[in-house]
Amino acid sequence: MAATVLVVEDEAKLRDVLRSYLERAGYAVLTAGSGAEALDLTTTAAPDLVLLDLRLPDIPGEAVAQEIRQVSDVAILMLTAKAGEDDRIRGFEAGADDYLTKPFSPRELVLRVQAILRRGQAAADRKVRESFGGGELVIDSERREAFVRGAPVELTPTEWGVLNALATTPGRVYSRAELINRVRGYEFEGYERTVDSHVKNLRRKVERDPHHPAIVATVLGGGYRLNLRRDG
Ligand code: CA
Repeated sequence: MAATVLVVEDEAKLRDVLRSYLERAGYAVLTAGSGAEALDLTTTAAPDLVLLDLRLPDIPGEAVAQEIRQVSDVAILMLTAKAGEDDRIRGFEAGADDYLTKPFSPRELVLRVQAILRRGQAAADRKVRESFGGGELVIDSERREAFVRGAPVELTPTEWGVLNALATTPGRVYSRAELINRVRGYEFEGYERTVDSHVKNLRRKVERDPHHPAIVATVLGGGYRLNLRRDG
């Protein structure tokens, strides 16, 4: 079944353009011209992704995202004319999964939507309890627990989110920005650099020698990756 995208944009012309590109990409599309309408449709039509413009006539997009988050964990992609770091952070704090700065190419938009929906599907398909590196690391995503060399480790929600994101595809490099996108409920004291401090804390808890990390590897100029193979 085609995934459903709810397009929330008050400019009719842009709304139509978005609709036609998303439909051509195979999505079922619903549209809303205001925040109130968007909130209604999110609860009644249960879309898979909400494409949310930040500038709406009635309710600011950030507030719409917050309202949606009270009732749903639907994917939210924000459209913004503002591009400052503070705006992006506010968007993530409001519960957005990703953002796109206007002007954007329709092709870029479709790629972004596909990526977010794939991510959600990958998370849903994953087993509840997974083992890595011959049992060195075990992640129980239902109980949100991690075990390292057989012992439970106490992780903050952010450390847990980072580890869990890296474990989605062991060996794959995740950029700092991508890790931020994946970690919901991230407390944004800053931006990408804050990921480094969370990784540092995470390593202190999971590595034998945090100065020579064997589990969470740094990829120069790239980001981080899980340096263990998935077992089984
Ligand atoms: Ca608008």
